[in-house]
Amino acid sequence: MEMFGQNVFNQSVMRDRLPKGVFKNLKKTIDEGLPLDPSIADVVATAMKEWAVERGATHFTHWFQPMTGITAEKHDSFLSPTENGALLEFSGKELVKGEPDASSFPSGGLRATFEARGYTAWDCTSPAFLREEADVITLCIPTAFCSYTGEALDKKTPLLRSMEALSTQAVRVLRLFGNTGVSRVTSTVGAEQEYFLVDKSFYLKRPDLMMAGRTLFGAMSSKGQELEDHYFGTIKERVLSYMKEVNEELWKLGVTAKTQHNEVAPGQFELAPIFENTNIATDHNQMVMDVLKRVANRHDMVCLLHEKPFAGVNGSGKHNNWSMSSNDGQNLLEPGHTPHENAQFLTFLMATIKAVDTYAGLLRCSCANAGNDHRLGANEAPPAIISIFLGEQLADIIDQIVAGAAKSSSKNADMKIGVTTLPALPKDATDRNRTSPFAFTGNKFEFRMLGSSFSISGPNIIINTIIAEALKGFADVLEKSNNFDADLETLLQETAKKHQRVVFNGNNYSDEWVQEAKERGLPNIPNTPEALKELISKEAVELFAAHKVFTEKEVHARYEIMVEQYVKTLNIEALTMIDMANHSIIPTAMEYATTVAASINAVTAVSGKLDVSTQKELLEELCGKLASMSSNAKALEKALENALNIADADKQAAAFRESVFAKMLELRATGDVLEKIIAAKYWPLPTYREMLFIL
Ligand code: ADP
Ligand code: MG
Repeated sequence: MEMFGQNVFNQSVMRDRLPKGVFKNLKKTIDEGLPLDPSIADVVATAMKEWAVERGATHFTHWFQPMTGITAEKHDSFLSPTENGALLEFSGKELVKGEPDASSFPSGGLRATFEARGYTAWDCTSPAFLREEADVITLCIPTAFCSYTGEALDKKTPLLRSMEALSTQAVRVLRLFGNTGVSRVTSTVGAEQEYFLVDKSFYLKRPDLMMAGRTLFGAMSSKGQELEDHYFGTIKERVLSYMKEVNEELWKLGVTAKTQHNEVAPGQFELAPIFENTNIATDHNQMVMDVLKRVANRHDMVCLLHEKPFAGVNGSGKHNNWSMSSNDGQNLLEPGHTPHENAQFLTFLMATIKAVDTYAGLLRCSCANAGNDHRLGANEAPPAIISIFLGEQLADIIDQIVAGAAKSSSKNADMKIGVTTLPALPKDATDRNRTSPFAFTGNKFEFRMLGSSFSISGPNIIINTIIAEALKGFADVLEKSNNFDADLETLLQETAKKHQRVVFNGNNYSDEWVQEAKERGLPNIPNTPEALKELISKEAVELFAAHKVFTEKEVHARYEIMVEQYVKTLNIEALTMIDMANHSIIPTAMEYATTVAASINAVTAVSGKLDVSTQKELLEELCGKLASMSSNAKALEKALENALNIADADKQAAAFRESVFAKMLELRATGDVLEKIIAAKYWPLPTYREMLFIL
């Protein structure tokens, strides 16, 4: 397809436009993830500028991912003033290093405002691209963002570090299997993105959607998703033409948007790309979210990426399909055809099981934010308990390994590592467990807990690092071995025995599982403030330091930022609710009550004998709810004030969760009753019926 990648300064463009030696040097840098050789930076910058300018670009920007979880950019023009006018210029220095005045990005105390400078550095493993917006074309250079003392201020730097850690340990393990040719292992990700679309005219009348990204009030419509008629149903024309444009924009950017369909809830959709290396997949998922929003705007719609825009129907998540591939072309989670390949597969599989069980808390933490608190553990997304789905056949193999090869009789197939060939594993969709947070799907794992608004960087930093750690443990033992097959078998058996508890093939949504998980000793972390604490546990800090992913200082900075983001999110939501209650719902209820009262008077004036009991009942209910609405709004205000007065950040977050959030629920409940009893023509807010069904 001609369109594909046309806005990307990719390797084939580089090959065409760079001198041979320079291209070779750059390609080596990219393939091996090395820092850019400064001696070629000017040549690369000039080629990049010429390519961009030919396509109409006037500006360039270092495109980076601060800890807000979205992307940031600072645009500079290519113009350099000269004596007789201006010159289009772009130097190697500008390509390699930028200095945004970044004092207003969150740094968690890593960078005091007086030394606000941070710098951005080109991550040449991720190609530069052109962004077309209105009629402005901008050259975007994907960069890492660090403080002057070298601390990571972004989501990219630690991701690259975690990929490095995983590569180092995975290569060690592959060497033990006699593979001397491999020099790099890369984690790969395909991130499925869910989202909602609403008509812009409704959005603009909903302060909650505008301020908080989700409805804070709203009575459920008479129909929701119970008929299951939206899921994979025919896509409406307006949405189809939107998706077509989204795909075209993404293809131009080299993003392999592949499948799209209606999701479970009305107004909900999904887009899935083809998997790529995790760093690129992360950049591309940011572009996907950006393009989804921008194109929606052109179609007079708004794309909602919030995890739970509407109560009562499913929220949106992001499925992170994850695997590892080696630079000799193997997918390390693909079961092989020979016993030797299978032993290697089982080793990487077992490392994953061990990692997920040992660091379940960290995985849970990686998916924690205020929005996702509405999903995890509710009956639509995986529960807050981490477990692994393996499918019957693999689970049986693990059973056999635990039982010890010789003793196995269940399937009369003795499982002997390095000797037995695995049966072919089914990959079809029927074998999928849609309730599992971490499901093996034939040749990859699908981590299903992520929220739709997330940068996938955080969860992948955790996955890469914990699996690096498990592989390190294996390599440390096996490198000392004199009898590889026997020692591997013992190692896998011990590991399976210890960590099998995390494997669960049943229904994760059931109450029985919550009970059983408790008996198995698996953590069940209910909310964000609790989950975030996992990040700064002693074990986590040591883990990150050992693999050079985060220093202790960086971990604490991130923790601080995430706690603060949680508090800020709930604060905005609470303020918006109070505003909507006082300025919209309460006055509407009063107006309607006045009308009803007037109706009683008017009817009674005609004849005192006429029956006005319906009006009276309604008036009574209205006034009753009006009073609770007002007192609930005041209670929320009070709870908010108390929470804001707490100095200690952890205690403050807990107060927001325990008290502010609880008061928000009460206020909403009253507001939603009022919506149901007030005449439609008085109700000032677009309803769920309108927002969910009119597209
Ligand atoms: P489905 O779940 O709809 O059957 P697929 O199995 O094709 O779809 O894959 C779902 C997602 O997983 C896609 O984004 C796909 O590119 C991705 N994926 C497939 N193989 C891998 C892999 N080896 N590593 C990471 N992601 C992968
Ligand atoms: Mg999926």
